[in-house]
Amino acid sequence: MLDRHHSDSLPLDLNSPLVTALNAFFNPCGVAVIGASRDPTKLGYAVLNNVTRHGYTGPVYPVNPKADEIMGLRCFPSILEVPDPCELAVIIAPAPASVDILEQCGRRGIKAAVVVSGGFSEADAEGQERERQLLEVARRYSMHLMGPNCIGVVDTHTPLDTTFVATMPKPGVITFVSHSGAVCGGVIDWALGAGVGMNRIVTLGNQADLNETDILEYLCTDPRTRVIAMYLEGIEHGRRFVEVARQVSRQKPIVAVKVGYTEAGRRAAASHTGALTGTDGAYRAAFHQSGIIRVPHIEALFDAAIALANQPLPRGDRVAILTNAGGPGVLAADAVAVHHLRLATLTKETQFCLRQFLQPHANIFNPVDMLGGADETDYARALDLLLRDPGVDAVMVINVPQVLVPAMRIVRSVAQVVHHLQTMPEYSHKPVMTCLIGDVSLGEAIEFMHQAQLPWFPFPERAAAALEAMVQRFKWLEKVSALGSRAPEANRPPVAVQTPIPTLPVRLARSAHEAARLAKEIGWPVVLKIASPDILHKSDVGGVAVGLDSVSAVRAAYKRILANARAAKPEAHLEGVLVQAMARPGREVIVGAVRDPQFGPLVMFGSGGLYVEVLKDVSFRLAPVTSDEAMEMIDETLAGQLLAGLRGQPPADKKAVAQVIVAVSHMMTADDRIAEMDINPLIVYEAGQGAVAVDVRVITSG
Ligand code: ADP
Ligand code: MG
Repeated sequence: MLDRHHSDSLPLDLNSPLVTALNAFFNPCGVAVIGASRDPTKLGYAVLNNVTRHGYTGPVYPVNPKADEIMGLRCFPSILEVPDPCELAVIIAPAPASVDILEQCGRRGIKAAVVVSGGFSEADAEGQERERQLLEVARRYSMHLMGPNCIGVVDTHTPLDTTFVATMPKPGVITFVSHSGAVCGGVIDWALGAGVGMNRIVTLGNQADLNETDILEYLCTDPRTRVIAMYLEGIEHGRRFVEVARQVSRQKPIVAVKVGYTEAGRRAAASHTGALTGTDGAYRAAFHQSGIIRVPHIEALFDAAIALANQPLPRGDRVAILTNAGGPGVLAADAVAVHHLRLATLTKETQFCLRQFLQPHANIFNPVDMLGGADETDYARALDLLLRDPGVDAVMVINVPQVLVPAMRIVRSVAQVVHHLQTMPEYSHKPVMTCLIGDVSLGEAIEFMHQAQLPWFPFPERAAAALEAMVQRFKWLEKVSALGSRAPEANRPPVAVQTPIPTLPVRLARSAHEAARLAKEIGWPVVLKIASPDILHKSDVGGVAVGLDSVSAVRAAYKRILANARAAKPEAHLEGVLVQAMARPGREVIVGAVRDPQFGPLVMFGSGGLYVEVLKDVSFRLAPVTSDEAMEMIDETLAGQLLAGLRGQPPADKKAVAQVIVAVSHMMTADDRIAEMDINPLIVYEAGQGAVAVDVRVITSG
């Protein structure tokens, strides 16, 4: 399954060959820019310019047979003439020439190359062949390759910039990894304006050699990367990605945007890079199981990354809101609920203390509304009280600018309280998100927040989303550490996997007479179903009759079912009619499984029946799953909530359902001839009374 690493070989060591190899991309001893140009309208100019102007201290070698000197640097006719030390080559040449150039790099002993040029697998069949050759050359010389069709890397600490983007972000602790060079270019410029510090930026392009998983593994060992933010279009080797990400995210947070989660987006992504985007259910499962925090868009990506990088993780989801205006407080309260957080209930002591100094009409319950006149002292005292309240896990501080109390005074006093309390062990785990609603009048205050490295947001919705990401991470780490002390059940060999799926006696009849005889043997009442490899949905063609309790009813149903099937699907091959024992009524759910091209076997649970495709009330996991994971899948769905019992209904046997999910997941991993499986319905009875599969469909491949 894993082509290079097993889960117990991680966490990764700083001296591994991959780490040494990748260091050359970010902190090389000498850089050659092959295809460097004197013409400011050419990429070869922009790249050389970026390599030199941001303060890179190692030697830089322009390579261009038509020049002796570029930007005051001695120019070399080919990479073969470039002296030592030179560890990294950046290749900006037309695609057809790139293969030969890489060959020369190999002969020269270069071990790391960024291929900027496009015109490879993203273009056409010819490009695909060229990319194959590129990789072949790289392998032959044990070189590592970034790209082709990428804009290379930025390291703000080295500093090194191999891109042709006009700006470079400020140094920071977030590393951004992107499948798209253009998204990166935009983000670099935006980050500079938004005051977001970055450690490294990596663009992967076509990933002929290095892919997102290699980089993830590498970044785990990078002490300056505190948070990994990813823009992903598609993941090729899903299982390896999950294994690596699962290990990495124990040590540092990974936040990701995976595009193509809508039908329209999927089509756009497919035509964009030729990446297979897989099904979103698979990505959802993969991210969930590897602890990756998934966000819907780039803005949320950096909001979460900034919060995770600069504030401590909360230990729960109870949020206190502190505001100087009612409306924003209500907005924040809604946002808290939308983002699966809770409003904290303040203790009587906190309320009492707030009452002592706030306006008589101020609201001392959560959200705490200090009203428009609140000054920096009020903010400081109230924030201090909220952070000390044992029922509060995190605080959102909102300030609407007004002329009497400049925002600058507020943020300075907020920062003082935050920095003071977060140094105390009792409060060091309580993050504070600040909302400064506005823009034009806030310049100085915003600059102060950047300097103080405190996350701030222009609206409460974004602050709540960032907090949600933090709580999600906290919960995941909790789960992982709880699991760490137990043996991983999913890795045990699947024992007698088929036995935990309870079914009913069923026999095939080829005549009405035989059907009646089998019914008597099975016991009344029975169910008759059309048996045909060509009919997937039996009731759709009138191919199911339930509750048959006499010989005459069975004979009539037999004839009716065959006639219905012939009329609905004349070309279908009919084997006869199945006679099945009738299950007593219960609650119907679906358990299924599919094989995803990127992630392999997935197991599914959800609302079954006729409306399964419409309701989309399903939850996926990569197989195999443990019974804990199966329980979690059940609880995530509406179907699961119904099983728990609503309106006086007794709770159903969730444990029995979980057993079936686990069994199906093991069948999928044990036998790769099974392409798809469907138990629809699984009829579930009251707690302790089990469940029974009345319709099991297995689709085999090949
Ligand atoms: P299909 O899904 O191909 O239409 P099913 O075998 O699922 O066919 O039957 C349709 C419905 O009939 C089921 O969803 C269930 O409600 C009911 N049913 C089928 N078999 C039984 C059975 N043995 N006992 C009780 N109900 C059954
Ligand atoms: Mg069915």
